[in-house]
Amino acid sequence: MSKHHHRDRSWAPAPSALPADAQVIDNHTHVASVVPFARAMSHEAVEKGQPQVPVYGVDELLAQAADVGVEGVIDCGCELPNLQVAIDMAREHPGQVHAAIAIHPNEAVLHGHRGVPGPDGLAVKYKPYHDVPFDEAMAEVARLARAYPRQVVAIGETGMDLFRTGAAAVELQREAFRAHIALAKELGLPMQIHDRDSHREVIETLLADGAPERTVFHSYSGDAEMGEIAREHGWYLSFSGTVSYKGNDGIRESARIVGPSHVMVETDAPYLTPMPYRGRTNAPYMIPYTLVALADALDLPLAEAARATRRTTREVYGI
Ligand SMILES: [Zn+2]
Repeated sequence: MSKHHHRDRSWAPAPSALPADAQVIDNHTHVASVVPFARAMSHEAVEKGQPQVPVYGVDELLAQAADVGVEGVIDCGCELPNLQVAIDMAREHPGQVHAAIAIHPNEAVLHGHRGVPGPDGLAVKYKPYHDVPFDEAMAEVARLARAYPRQVVAIGETGMDLFRTGAAAVELQREAFRAHIALAKELGLPMQIHDRDSHREVIETLLADGAPERTVFHSYSGDAEMGEIAREHGWYLSFSGTVSYKGNDGIRESARIVGPSHVMVETDAPYLTPMPYRGRTNAPYMIPYTLVALADALDLPLAEAARATRRTTREVYGI
């Protein structure tokens, strides 16, 4: 029997609530994507004869997060049809949901069908909205960021991803990343970076073009050497569940290097669920588990680490 068969598709139990004076914000999540993901898990559980798994809506997911001290989220819309979804969620939950918008690096190479199929057959991922040329998709990001200044608090996630796309798409991704850097600077907005297997390319591009004043590495995945570069340039690191994974000493060391003034916490839900629940569905209520690992890396009490991330979030986004 496959490992897949035995996967536990249920929700992880809620963590202990953070203290009232140590509430935090999930710096990067995809709440709208958690709903269909959980629905798929629920169907699979039934198929495999596992206990029923409830499917929660956006309002319930936000309430569950608030119950454990996650007072708000930055929801990221990074596929063309999802830009407005993130903004609408922010409009419906003022003060609790904020939006970050961009064309994700793996999306940027699909627009206008200009991408080169990667090792995992990228070509089959084309959807009808990818007929829109990249420049037009990017213009929509700019239009929405200008139209909704109270909701859109960051440009992101943008950057480079050489894991899925393959080397052939490097220049297309770099060009798309540069367009986002320029927009963030033009609008005076912070930028959230997606960097997967592309540390060198991302850093080179940031240094060549000049990074936005507030530059955040979302789900930071670098080593100590990269942590030093981030500290030197005043870049911020946002830690997902991966900070709790065995073997990620470089990620934890980087947190110590940049220090409490430059760290934030995130879920990147529905993926990257923190220990001890790796493999379950992730959602903003899971943040306190990740904070335990981050606090440990920083050698701080949990509440102090939580407050540090909250201060950083305020400094970076003004929220
Ligand atoms: Zn993300």
